Amino acid sequence: MEQSHTLDQETHYCQSCGMPMDNAEVLGSETNGQKSQEYCMYCYEAGEFKQPEITQAEMMDHCTGFLIKDGMAEEEARSLLAGSLPHLKRWSGQQ
Ligand SMILES: [Zn+2]
Repeated sequence: MEQSHTLDQETHYCQSCGMPMDNAEVLGSETNGQKSQEYCMYCYEAGEFKQPEITQAEMMDHCTGFLIKDGMAEEEARSLLAGSLPHLKRWSGQQ
């Protein structure tokens, strides 16, 4: 029994794509059906990454598209992601 997961500190960000996960509905899922506390539903489902082969550069392009759709300028989106993606758990161990 583990009850250590909390969502009350500050907003969690998906540790793959950097999306804010302020809503339980966007959380990914583990093999046992529990919600993932680290990854969003777009990146992670049933304990597996949906795009296991994606590289950090590809993820950056992917996320840039979303931010642009959200109204952000491409340059701004890219610099935001360049400053955040490399620190996420999925990418921080890679070079
Ligand atoms: Zn994600």
